[in-house]
Amino acid sequence: MKRKLILLILILLLGFLAWRLFVATFSQEPIEIIVEDKEEVTPEILDDTLEASTDDTIEASIDTSAQTKETTTAPPKEEPARLTSSDFIINKKVSWGYSSSNDRTIDTVVVHSSYDALGSKPYDLDGLIDEYKQYGVAPHFLIDRKGNVYRLVDEKNIAYHAGVSKMPDGRTGANNFSIGIEMMNTKEDNYTDKQYSGLNDLIDYLESQYKIKYVLGHEDISPDRKTDPWNFDWKEVNSNNAIH
Ligand SMILES: [Zn+2]
Repeated sequence: MKRKLILLILILLLGFLAWRLFVATFSQEPIEIIVEDKEEVTPEILDDTLEASTDDTIEASIDTSAQTKETTTAPPKEEPARLTSSDFIINKKVSWGYSSSNDRTIDTVVVHSSYDALGSKPYDLDGLIDEYKQYGVAPHFLIDRKGNVYRLVDEKNIAYHAGVSKMPDGRTGANNFSIGIEMMNTKEDNYTDKQYSGLNDLIDYLESQYKIKYVLGHEDISPDRKTDPWNFDWKEVNSNNAIH
């Protein structure tokens, strides 16, 4: 009876040891997997981690957790979403209202408003462009009521849109260093949401291409002569360079 009891205790003891060995073997696996994962992400750190982990798994796990900490505390690089492509711009070039240039420096965006005052439909695109022709003027861009952005003059050229003008920094002749944007609107109407959206896309694009310092209205540089852009809400403009 006693021998049977001792035999039973021995079997239980062996079983316990076998179970411990089993647990010990498999508990090491996750750490090895983590080390292999790190190999793909950070090859330079891998060598150090492997050296440490071959002898001592605890050290390896501390290493790995330190690396995890490092990656989570590093702030994700969040560049502001900016339009760097001009794909949304519809080319509708005109043959008047500008002089050619290849070497001007652009640092200003001038916002205007206009409508076809000569025809019967104030928001007729071709009618409005024809009106510019009659006056021998042109903006670089025209934004219609639907928010479509038309390019009438290449940015490199000097478009006749601002006339006699004086900048906040004292410079005159703003046409020489500015981009002119006409927003289709009467003196009574308000701009559509799509127009503001088109304008913001355009300003985004221009700021990605040129070192823009000022985004302002025609009335800001020609206060004695001009009141446009009429009924314009500057809060809708998402630019750090807007002076309003
Ligand atoms: Zn104007």
